[in-house]
Amino acid sequence: MTAKILDGKAMAAAIKASLKDKITKQGIKPGLAVILVGEDPASKIYVGGKEKDALEVGYLSEMFRLPGDAAQEDVLKLVKELNLRKDINGILVQLPLPKHLNEELITNSIEPVKDVDGFTYNSAGRLFTGSKGLVACTPKGCIEMIRATGVDMKGKNAVVIGRSNIVGKPMAILLLAEHATVTICHSRTKDLPSITRQADILVAAIGKTRFVKAGMVKEGAIVVDVGMNRDENGKLCGDVDFDEVKEKASFITPVPGGVGLMTRAMLMSNTYEAYLMQQEAK
Ligand code: NAP
Repeated sequence: MTAKILDGKAMAAAIKASLKDKITKQGIKPGLAVILVGEDPASKIYVGGKEKDALEVGYLSEMFRLPGDAAQEDVLKLVKELNLRKDINGILVQLPLPKHLNEELITNSIEPVKDVDGFTYNSAGRLFTGSKGLVACTPKGCIEMIRATGVDMKGKNAVVIGRSNIVGKPMAILLLAEHATVTICHSRTKDLPSITRQADILVAAIGKTRFVKAGMVKEGAIVVDVGMNRDENGKLCGDVDFDEVKEKASFITPVPGGVGLMTRAMLMSNTYEAYLMQQEAK
């Protein structure tokens, strides 16, 4: 079997176009504020992509670039100001923050209704309990990609490799909400291939170049690759050995052109949702 490619670029473009259409028809302009502290090169690229997407969709987009030695009080003061601004519906603090800053405290200072990254304890708790809230962009994007296959997740065996707070754990909860039977694997999991071979849906969020081989995948599985790694030649690649696994899976996400672009699209979607939630609360 050769897998169908789940094209993140096309899906993300369609989501952004639909959002643009909605806000144009509704005559609204949701606002997204992104805070970048310091000069981390990868963070600068991510933040640039978010700004580009927001402008493309037609949002108000404000970037706040603070120096790498910014004081904690200054970052907290900025978040507080943005929490109060009516024209800003979503606030994102780009992680990682410089070491001297308390990431946990700063992230949790964002008002939950403006937490478009879904990283606050409030948002995580809402996801855990099934209450309405903003969901972390990467796992939300993965679920959208699985939905796009048209395969009903109900009762399927889903295996998530990775248990980080930003990808693995929320991913598992979203799959559970879709009524999949979920197994979470990690670095201490015994005989990982025997577990992954049971997966109708396999999500890899490990951070290891081409770690998932064809022998670890069930024939016909849906394979979602969250990994963003550089191989020995500096080429961007995922956690899945795409060339091998695409011959066995029914659907597969590529890297690049997969989950990364959907993550960005979900940020746009969360900003719109945040806008609506704030209108409802008025
Ligand atoms: P992370 O916090 O480093 O977590 C990695 C997880 O993989 C951990 O739970 C770890 O287990 C597990 N793991 C490591 N080695 C393993 C092994 N040999 N067998 C089984 N499990 C193993 O990483 P993350 O933040 O979740 O990110 C994962 C990957 O996704 C990275 O490549 C990252 O760049 C990428 N990512 C992409 C996007 C996107 O938009 N596309 C967004 C976020 C992250 P332990 O818990 O036991 O250590």
